[in-house]
Amino acid sequence: MNRELLITHASQLVTLAGPARTRVGAEMRELAIIKDGAVLARDGVIVAVGATSEVEPQAAVDALHLDAGSSVVMPGFVDAHTHPVFAGTREDEYEMRAAGMTYQQIAASGGGIRSTVRRTRAASEDELFELGKIRAGWLLGHGTTTVEAKSGYGLTVDDELKILRVIRRLNDETALELIPTFLGAHEIPDEYRNKREDYIRLVIDEMLPRVAAEGLARYCDVFCESHVFTVNDSRRVLTRAKELGFGIRLHAEQLSLSGGASLAAELGAASADHLEWVDQAGIEALRQAGVIAILLPGAVFNLGLTRYAPARAMIDAGLGVALATDFNPGSSPTPSMQMILSIACTQMRMTPAEVITAATINGACSLGCEARLGSIESGKQADIVMHDCSDYRQIPYFFGVNHAVVVIKSGEVVVDTRGDASTASR
Ligand SMILES: [Zn+2]
Repeated sequence: MNRELLITHASQLVTLAGPARTRVGAEMRELAIIKDGAVLARDGVIVAVGATSEVEPQAAVDALHLDAGSSVVMPGFVDAHTHPVFAGTREDEYEMRAAGMTYQQIAASGGGIRSTVRRTRAASEDELFELGKIRAGWLLGHGTTTVEAKSGYGLTVDDELKILRVIRRLNDETALELIPTFLGAHEIPDEYRNKREDYIRLVIDEMLPRVAAEGLARYCDVFCESHVFTVNDSRRVLTRAKELGFGIRLHAEQLSLSGGASLAAELGAASADHLEWVDQAGIEALRQAGVIAILLPGAVFNLGLTRYAPARAMIDAGLGVALATDFNPGSSPTPSMQMILSIACTQMRMTPAEVITAATINGACSLGCEARLGSIESGKQADIVMHDCSDYRQIPYFFGVNHAVVVIKSGEVVVDTRGDASTASR
């Protein structure tokens, strides 16, 4: 592809230009907005950013020209925590929760993650790929151009590898970029209920080396919670993962204060995720170790809970914060980062500027992609989304609306839901 892409007349070009590192504290509120902005990309890479009057003359005559028509243009969302490959849905549990049952009660009666594991094991790689393709379309359609994608619904060597191969195929065969994470330590499977040590050994001795040998994951994650994998179990799995070259992520302090945050700090994890129960000492440990806090308020919201992660205390303490959907069939079945931004503003008191930073450049930092993704700057990949509103604050404000109308991945238009009249291609 040699064609240039020119976008002009953004009411607000939300660039997030700035240092290629985690934005913290007041930096999270600096979006580097250009009014009547324009972007020029060549071969999928951004080559000029500025006012329309400056950038437009630099474009080749045969550039694909998109007039933003006074809408907001910003980087594609980087959703740094998803579980998108699974079979079966759990609307039955959703209904049971509406009737008063808790997530834990449903899990204890055989529902929850284990019910998704049974159905995912029974599904073929092709079936999972077809389901994943539909979900990749949802994510792109809501303005997300990159996701971190976890395994964890297989829990056998073969089924975990099957899921990771589906993630790789989705990355290769759809426009969505997926960064793979191995999450074999997601739950103790039914057949290991009374021999959990054997399952931990299976993860450490068989799954991790196979995943590493086949190059199927960049990160390793563990569900660290006292009734699933304790801090000690998690340390053993993640230490082995580090030896094998994986980056580290951690589901930490979601349902109780169990020490996951200090473990993430101790191991130099890329991220500690959830953190609804983290305390001030945990926040400080994460900050000092440079671990990014990935907050997942969609799960709290969807489970009908009220204890959100202390985002304000984190930002005020200078801890880097990212936001993600936690897209999964149980606790957070939404692909919409826009919905997550709304929940973060109203329930965690993050400002609209902070949630945009958390959903773009800080997510990219947690995945080691900050030099390539997460902002609109010369030299970066052209992952750009046009939202049909005139002020970026309307993205969380009009909640439940999908504002994303044009989605561009690596300089290619992959979604365009506007009518013909608004597409100014020449
Ligand atoms: Zn998760």
